[in-house]
Amino acid sequence: MSSHVIITGAGLCGTLLALQLAHRGHKVTLLEKRGDLRKEEMSAGRSINLALSDRGLAALDLVGLRQKALDISIPMLGRLVHIKGGGTTMLLPYSGRAGEHIQSISRPGLNALLLDAADEHPSIDILFNHGVQYADVKGARVIGTKGSTSETFDLTGDILIGTDGAGSEVRNGFMQIGSTIRFNYSLQWLDHGYKELEIPAGAEGTWQIEKNALHIWPRQSFMVIALPNLDGSFTVTLFLAYDGTPGFNHLNTDQEILKFFKDEFPDLVALMPDLIADFKHHPTGALGTVKCGPWHTDRALLMGDAAHAVVPFYGQGMNCSMEDVLKLDQCLDEVSENWPKAFEIYNAGRKKDADAIADLAVENYYEMRDHVDNPDFIAKRAIEMKLEKKYPDYASKYNLVTFCEQHPYSYAKEKGNRQDKWLLAYCNQTDTSNLSEEELERIYKALKEV
Ligand SMILES: Cc1cc2nc3c(=O)[nH]c(=O)nc-3n(C[C@H](O)[C@H](O)[C@H](O)COP(=O)(O)OP(=O)(O)OC[C@H]3O[C@@H](n4cnc5c(N)ncnc54)[C@H](O)[C@@H]3O)c2cc1C
Repeated sequence: MSSHVIITGAGLCGTLLALQLAHRGHKVTLLEKRGDLRKEEMSAGRSINLALSDRGLAALDLVGLRQKALDISIPMLGRLVHIKGGGTTMLLPYSGRAGEHIQSISRPGLNALLLDAADEHPSIDILFNHGVQYADVKGARVIGTKGSTSETFDLTGDILIGTDGAGSEVRNGFMQIGSTIRFNYSLQWLDHGYKELEIPAGAEGTWQIEKNALHIWPRQSFMVIALPNLDGSFTVTLFLAYDGTPGFNHLNTDQEILKFFKDEFPDLVALMPDLIADFKHHPTGALGTVKCGPWHTDRALLMGDAAHAVVPFYGQGMNCSMEDVLKLDQCLDEVSENWPKAFEIYNAGRKKDADAIADLAVENYYEMRDHVDNPDFIAKRAIEMKLEKKYPDYASKYNLVTFCEQHPYSYAKEKGNRQDKWLLAYCNQTDTSNLSEEELERIYKALKEV
């Protein structure tokens, strides 16, 4: 039977969900606080490109948009580490198997692709400039205002799904009835924030540094990464503590900013002519992990960042949010579209996976920042590459998270952490420079058992 579903937030999760529910025969009203991003200038410093990987691509398959997304992406084959003294390491591939890599995609580009598809669907009504201010999660009702006017709207559907991001108003609706459904909520801020900067395109739209890589400048307690854009530019993100030295709170004057970059990232200074202006004008974003639950009543559900915002260090927030849509779709199939039952089994299955990727993302922050140029870590990656090349059924933790959508995040975390522990201890005690095939086989068998 067809239901009227109200979805709040026409971001990546909400728009994909709208499309899939419309494909299933439901009528969807998609409410978005902002204007139509296809017609407006993006605000500077709002994460412009994202790493898209297999879980996100599998979710896009639901609505037939995988290829269109790939067409506007740039393959990133591995990490290129920029050393403090100058120069880079060899490219550290994301996998030992050919074809396993991640994609750099523009956030507005992907969102526009989804919105264009939603526009074409007669059962989807997209209402831009509709910011929800109150959600009744038992009655599937939302109230809000239109744009910056005082004109209000008041809508009730059969079902309400909140995909309105990390600061979700629908989640506030769950909190208001918190004691009746024993709603838990936690927000854990990282002591680091982020700022987005830019390496502009070179002459005739060329890329000034290696195009097909995710660039990292790890500096122990802080780091910079850069992802390529189609127009030849790179979106550069500095992750740095707010307090302490260095820290965002102590980088105020032109001299302080320039000295910090010249000391730590001299190669970047040469590539970013607008460094100081961008640094001063782009906002410093906070990074936090939201965990909450239960995510549902009989008539309402939280999905995407609204249910589980994670820090960006595994490049999985969007992939996980889009995979949510795939998982809900499977639950709807399983219980023949009985919404309350589907919400219940979705919550029961998905919560441990969202918690797992949240924890993995924080762990990976320390790995990228502190260990990516550590000899044991590099030796471990080299062995993982060899194992992936030789044994089709071996997958490192990174591989399990990023390329093995058949395994849930919780499995990737548990198995991956056990493998990491074994391999790091091995690399610490062994000279791994000339491993024989027999020794590789022994490692493979040992890792199967952990
Ligand atoms: C610096 C940074 C880098 C990242 N890099 C990656 C990456 O490489 N790979 C990856 O997979 N993920 C990455 N992420 C995470 C990713 O951005 C999020 O997980 C993803 O955007 C979540 O999608 P969503 O649709 O759930 O929420 P959002 O993208 O936040 O969309 C929510 C939508 O709801 C709208 N909205 C908000 N409030 C209301 C309201 N009251 N009423 C109506 N509409 C509302 C918003 O305007 C927005 O359109 C990164 C995040 C950050 C901060």
